[in-house]
Amino acid sequence: MSLIIDCHGHYTTAPKALENWRNAQIAGIQDPASMPRVIDLKISDDELRESIELNQLRLMKERGSDITIFSPRASFMAHHIGDFQISSTWAAICNELCYRVAQLFPDHFVPVAMLPQSPGVDPATCIPELEKCVKEYGNVGINLNPDPSGGHWTSPPLTDKAWYPIYEKMVEHDIPAMVHVSTSCNACFHTTGAHYINADTTAVMQLIQGDLFQDFPALRFIIPHGGGAAPYHWGRYRGLAQEMKKPLLQDHLLKNVFFDTCVYHQPGIDLLTKVIPVDNILFASEMIGAVRGIDPETGHYFDDTKRYIENSTIVVGDDRHKVYEANTRRVFPRLDAHLKTQGR
Ligand SMILES: [Zn+2]
Repeated sequence: MSLIIDCHGHYTTAPKALENWRNAQIAGIQDPASMPRVIDLKISDDELRESIELNQLRLMKERGSDITIFSPRASFMAHHIGDFQISSTWAAICNELCYRVAQLFPDHFVPVAMLPQSPGVDPATCIPELEKCVKEYGNVGINLNPDPSGGHWTSPPLTDKAWYPIYEKMVEHDIPAMVHVSTSCNACFHTTGAHYINADTTAVMQLIQGDLFQDFPALRFIIPHGGGAAPYHWGRYRGLAQEMKKPLLQDHLLKNVFFDTCVYHQPGIDLLTKVIPVDNILFASEMIGAVRGIDPETGHYFDDTKRYIENSTIVVGDDRHKVYEANTRRVFPRLDAHLKTQGR
């Protein structure tokens, strides 16, 4: 028996008051007199409970997953809006809500933090929020946005030394980062259909081009949404790495880079699990997220990704335990330690 750990869930169902507060904050950028205060946002524990019990927790029970690694709604991070102070206040609010959800449902949710990133601002400014979330809120990881500009890619690649202060803290606290963009403000890129998948693919290629893991051998990244296009084009990436005189990808990348299973059909999961070693695959659904409908070909929800693992002829036996639990506990040591304190 395995615990079924979903390593990729966002608080997409937060009470409406959160969105209203955010809209007021955005309006306050133009009209400082109307800027809301943090204490103006009032969400009770009962409201939090209801938003989870009717949604994520209900589906977790229906589908048979035990724990969700839970972070603020990715598309709402919107790091491109306002300045560092705007992002900082917003991140603190969103992280506190996920912390409260984890406190209310300690058997089912473990928090991961968003960072108060802002375009053109030194990533080191995110460290106080990161440390608060790890030390005070028990966060087991972070979401790192490689493109805080929201689709214009104005930041240096992830291998650039500008990011190193974040990586140093990740290593110090032994936390991984999911490389996760936010909403697209570039009309060319649909947020979840293009920008997310582009970013996943872009992150993989940046990591191939650089030698980041020589500087940080213990650094760990999760590339969500099944790794974007990378697994599908693994031959291209192996070939490019070879031409760049990089080591084999199994040595250059796969000691540090992991892929989730947020791929919403069986052939996609089959490809992912055939191409990428099982030790690098973490179960996830990103439920309730981008794709909420039912697949007419199967009669089941697209994002009910556990079905694809259960129906897999590739991930069988002990490999299934790795994907559901063991790999995730290895990549998130603070989650492992936390679960052990619960006797799990
Ligand atoms: Zn996500």
